[in-house]
Amino acid sequence: MGLGMVRPMTHFDVAIVGGGIVGSSTAYYLRKNGFTGSIGLFEQDMSFKRACTSLSWGGIRQQFSTPENIRLSQFGLALIRNLKDEFGPEADIGFKEQGYLVLATEGSVAVLEENQKLQRSMGADTEIYWGADMARRFPWINFDGIAAASFGPRNEGWFDPYSLMSIVRKAALARDVTLVQQAVAGIGRNGKITSLSTAGGETFTVGALVNAAGASAGAVAGFAGIELPVSPAKRFVYVIDCPGASEAMRKGPLTFDVTGEYFRPEGRNFIWGFTPSDDEEPKVKDWEMDESWFENRIWPALASRVPAFEAVKMIGGWIGHYDYNWFDHNGIIGRHPDIENFYFANGFSGHGIQQGPATGNAIAELICFGGYRTIDLARLGYERLQRKEPLFEKNIF
Ligand SMILES: Cc1cc2nc3c(=O)[nH]c(=O)nc-3n(C[C@H](O)[C@H](O)[C@H](O)COP(=O)(O)OP(=O)(O)OC[C@H]3O[C@@H](n4cnc5c(N)ncnc54)[C@H](O)[C@@H]3O)c2cc1C
Repeated sequence: MGLGMVRPMTHFDVAIVGGGIVGSSTAYYLRKNGFTGSIGLFEQDMSFKRACTSLSWGGIRQQFSTPENIRLSQFGLALIRNLKDEFGPEADIGFKEQGYLVLATEGSVAVLEENQKLQRSMGADTEIYWGADMARRFPWINFDGIAAASFGPRNEGWFDPYSLMSIVRKAALARDVTLVQQAVAGIGRNGKITSLSTAGGETFTVGALVNAAGASAGAVAGFAGIELPVSPAKRFVYVIDCPGASEAMRKGPLTFDVTGEYFRPEGRNFIWGFTPSDDEEPKVKDWEMDESWFENRIWPALASRVPAFEAVKMIGGWIGHYDYNWFDHNGIIGRHPDIENFYFANGFSGHGIQQGPATGNAIAELICFGGYRTIDLARLGYERLQRKEPLFEKNIF
């Protein structure tokens, strides 16, 4: 190679597979924590049209039952609050601080109260409404069969997930992170991870590898012979026009009903979704819309919960694939116990946009300092899968 020619990069000290919120945050926080080695961010599809991040509802809440999940989301919230200081005056993700409302039957009130206690002890403002107070506070909801409702009046809501991802990725790339627009198709291992190869036939040697491949994380781990129970779970999102909605309802929270349906305002419209039961879980992981769920499952339930939803028109919708952890539906974060340079940042199952920045920072801390400094995420490590000890959320999903 002649003098002055740039040698193509064939080695990365850290290679990150996936340029969504988790991979971009990992790259960004590596630099923020002082990592000076080379970083390669591998992304197969720069349109991000099927990435979880782009298709997400963008919700952030403190209403979890495990301290780790609360802390991960609080880190995300702090970033949102400091967005302009962190990324400059143009940074804007349209945060709508309209809260989350979680309904509970008599049978689940005890869990709601237990969760509230934990959340408040960690600085959340979660309030519980009972009896007639529920209808006074949220008059557009029919509270038949509901014993209590838990509401986060501050520090919860939703934002534009695509904007957050783009802002963080741009900031990472501005700090000497190399974007490699190729699909990773193989991982070389000799005890440790040694290399990765791309679908385009290139091979890169690597010092460490971070799996941030969203719904494909199980497949990427499989390239290294590692079993990871993370794969796509198909979810339906319906966009609804509801002419009879009051202004208060349009400014209302994201609401979870006890039978798994949820909705929130989206501009002048609403979006609806549901958590399928095990029996309902779509077997086919394609991108085909199925309106029968809207007709037969969600509409009847939500129309009886919210009278204004009796007269609605479905005006659009989309399919998203959750990055689903089939073991216990929580993030799997940290170093592989036996393969010291393979890092997991996977399986967020519906929490990952709010937890992406904190996860990126956590992985960066592991790489830079050999341990966690901001949030101890040991309980979310891969070891729990090996021990067959699931860590379930005792909340709505
Ligand atoms: C419908 C829906 C609603 C959601 N709502 C919320 C919510 O309200 N709140 C919340 O916190 N979370 C929510 N989530 C979850 C959240 O969006 C995800 O957990 C989060 O975006 C995961 O980010 P990620 O960077 O890991 O994955 P992704 O955004 O999917 O990024 C992974 C990237 O890896 C790339 N990739 C995969 N394989 C390879 C490969 N072999 N080589 C190179 N690149 C590869 C993909 O192209 C992709 O761009 C929702 C998700 C969906 C689908």
